[in-house]
Amino acid sequence: MADVSHAHLSFNEFGLPVANAYDDIYFSNENGLAESHYVFLQHNDLPARWQTHSQRRFVIAESGFGTGLNLLATWQLLLEQAPESVQLHFISFEKFPLQRDDLRRALAAFPNLAPLAEELIAAYPPAEPGCHRRHLANGRILLDVWVGDIQTSLNDWLPHAEATVDAWFLDGFAPDKNPDMWTQTLYDAMAHSARDHATFATFTAAGAVRRGLQAAGFQVTKAKGFGRKREMLRGLRPARTATAQKAASERSAQMITVVGGGIAAACLVWHLAQQGYTVELIADSLADGASGNSQGAVYPLLHAERSPLAAFFTQAFGYATQFYQHQAPQHWFPTGVVQLAFNASREERYRKIVATGANTPQYASETVQWQSADATQQLWSALPAHPSLYYPAGGWLRPAAVVEHLVGSTTALSRLAHGPLEQIEPSNEGWVLNFADGHQLRRQRVILACGAGLKHLLAPLAIQLQNVRGQVSLCPTTNTSAECPLVVCYKGYFTPADNGIHCVGATYARDSEDLTLRAADDRENLANLCQDLAPAQWPADLRTTSARAAIRNTTKDHLPLAGAVAENLWVMGGLGSRGFTAAPLVAACLAAEISHQPLPIPAALWQRLQPARLKPAPASP
Ligand code: SAM
Repeated sequence: MADVSHAHLSFNEFGLPVANAYDDIYFSNENGLAESHYVFLQHNDLPARWQTHSQRRFVIAESGFGTGLNLLATWQLLLEQAPESVQLHFISFEKFPLQRDDLRRALAAFPNLAPLAEELIAAYPPAEPGCHRRHLANGRILLDVWVGDIQTSLNDWLPHAEATVDAWFLDGFAPDKNPDMWTQTLYDAMAHSARDHATFATFTAAGAVRRGLQAAGFQVTKAKGFGRKREMLRGLRPARTATAQKAASERSAQMITVVGGGIAAACLVWHLAQQGYTVELIADSLADGASGNSQGAVYPLLHAERSPLAAFFTQAFGYATQFYQHQAPQHWFPTGVVQLAFNASREERYRKIVATGANTPQYASETVQWQSADATQQLWSALPAHPSLYYPAGGWLRPAAVVEHLVGSTTALSRLAHGPLEQIEPSNEGWVLNFADGHQLRRQRVILACGAGLKHLLAPLAIQLQNVRGQVSLCPTTNTSAECPLVVCYKGYFTPADNGIHCVGATYARDSEDLTLRAADDRENLANLCQDLAPAQWPADLRTTSARAAIRNTTKDHLPLAGAVAENLWVMGGLGSRGFTAAPLVAACLAAEISHQPLPIPAALWQRLQPARLKPAPASP
């Protein structure tokens, strides 16, 4: 069985979409955009509330993303009428995502929205379960699409979304056509997630819906419905007695210190600045460790089952590719990535990943595709005739340039250099950082994101990490290799040339932290390439002219490490060999957690990333 089914649509006599399964329309035949404005925007008092909004972001949650029309209407209004300081976080739940072509066709009904619709269509996530975070409108809009039944997604989302939402758009097919969605669980979740004085609006005036919302704690009133509809509902969540929100808003104006100079630290400073923090970065230099190779590949790590690792990477991959496309387009090359099934056991493993059940693939075709031997050679004729997995959205980037660009483009950032951080210890007001050069700093809030340095720093907290040495070999192009159009993965990986040089990676030596270059490692890198790409002859012509060794920080379960290790002390690391795929989403999660914003991954998955899992189990009595 597929995890997610697409919506099955028909287009009616007006050319507008109808959901076959529900026999219901996505928006009004008369004027969908006017209905969206009237029901959801006007009855949540938008744009008036934006004029006086005291938080950095205005958060809207919606049941039923559908065609995204409500998002586009809100987006247009934001651009036209909100103060420039107001940013939007739009969170929407969707059980049956539209196919991209259906989305395009449905939104063609609104030519005035065309530029926004195009941007949405380009960013539209694959039909993978979980949360898909995307940046829109030059970063002014954060979109989280939770794919899956809202009843399940609410369990995944709500633990990190208490008192965060300013307005609910209670949409969805009509209650009599879709009773499974209109439940007390949904109304209760709306109330829990709502900030004090948050509002909701819905097109329906059904008595059961009104009573359910009242029982959840909303003050509900009836309003005149849109067009020929008699009535609709709107309402307000009264203030709680506690002042949880005040604390959240104060927190985001604070300063935070990040230790590290690689992709983890760079993604953190970028995301924290987005949340309104003033960030201090402590790094001797940028990208001088595992983030400093000349080229880095971006593609997910998948399993035949949707393991926590595979679930994490499908979401992280989609986020990372859009993130680099927007934040560092000059250093990101979405060439696609092919992973060769170069022997029988690899082929068996890869076939399982794309095995279909009930005629539908487990992973979306935007994530991964099976290629026959012929199709593999169509990707590049110099590849051997092996079947393969193909990641069409993957590619490679220039790691150091991306890190420097992210740090350089972050405002509200100061930088310090003090040699390696040797040790960190608690003090009355926060943390004391002791550096190798003898300097001592006192800081209130600290995030450790210094890759291989974490192993030593976290050892006193009994958090166990492994450092793994890797050497990449740099090889000038030959006539054939210069034509390589995409990243080729086998036992190692081979990148398309950048300025005439390929990156051939990488060795994997546990428990070694020696950075001296080894000729044997270069031989191993090239031997793997020759062997796994046989009978292709061209790899034999490659020569290594230089190399680079670095230490990657890894965890025993290959999942990244992120979260609090003590009060006001957090960590982000364990990114292993997939740092550039994982880092943007991990940083987005940690920044959201620290600033009490809704998280872009399921709560249980976030739990799997927590540092405490890496402590040894207590001895049984
Ligand atoms: N807000 C949408 C727009 O702007 O285009 C229109 C929403 S349409 C009327 C209702 C949407 O709710 C459909 O896309 C449908 O697949 C989705 N839906 C229905 N039941 C759901 C459920 N249990 N969980 C999540 N989404 C659901």
